[in-house]
Amino acid sequence: MQPLPTLFLDRDGVINRRTVGDYVRRPADFIFETNVLNALRLLAGHFGHIVVVTNQAGVGKGLMSGADLAAVHRKMLAAVRRAGGRIDRVYHCPHRPDAGCSCRKPGVGMALQAQADFSDINFENAWMVGDSLSDMQLGQALGMKTILISGKEEEAKALAALAVDGRFESLWAFAEAYCTAEAQIFTAEAQRRRDVE
Ligand SMILES: [Zn+2]
Repeated sequence: MQPLPTLFLDRDGVINRRTVGDYVRRPADFIFETNVLNALRLLAGHFGHIVVVTNQAGVGKGLMSGADLAAVHRKMLAAVRRAGGRIDRVYHCPHRPDAGCSCRKPGVGMALQAQADFSDINFENAWMVGDSLSDMQLGQALGMKTILISGKEEEAKALAALAVDGRFESLWAFAEAYCTAEAQIFTAEAQRRRDVE
């Protein structure tokens, strides 16, 4: 039997509401997207590892501390656990965009760190779910399947031109499609391609 795949999740815009032009600096700023807790409970049975990979340059810019970010993630993980879901680890890049680090998405550093921590992660059997170009680029660089969740408006043009494996309105919509009929996940994208042609 094929081992269960790994799910890589972006945070802002997928799990919680994006704060456009700002960062989620404290737990009170962290608001789950609709039905995300149900989605994570559903996905827990279908993925061997579920990890979050998130760029948090607000730390490097001095707008929030590492402790602030840790408090936000404690709140997130506790709520997910209470709802019967699972996030196995959260990786974040605290660096500024101009720092030249290898962890900031679309860099693959956080995914490689996850593979170092969970040696059975196989990127060919992994899904990257995010709302940004950088998420899709990270996934594609490592040969993962890529799912775009209601993409960022400021990247709409680039995202429309991008070949991804599926597009969904929400993590919940992806979870429902994936878990009720894993094979049908590609139907939506195939339909979109036909519509474009
Ligand atoms: Zn970094």
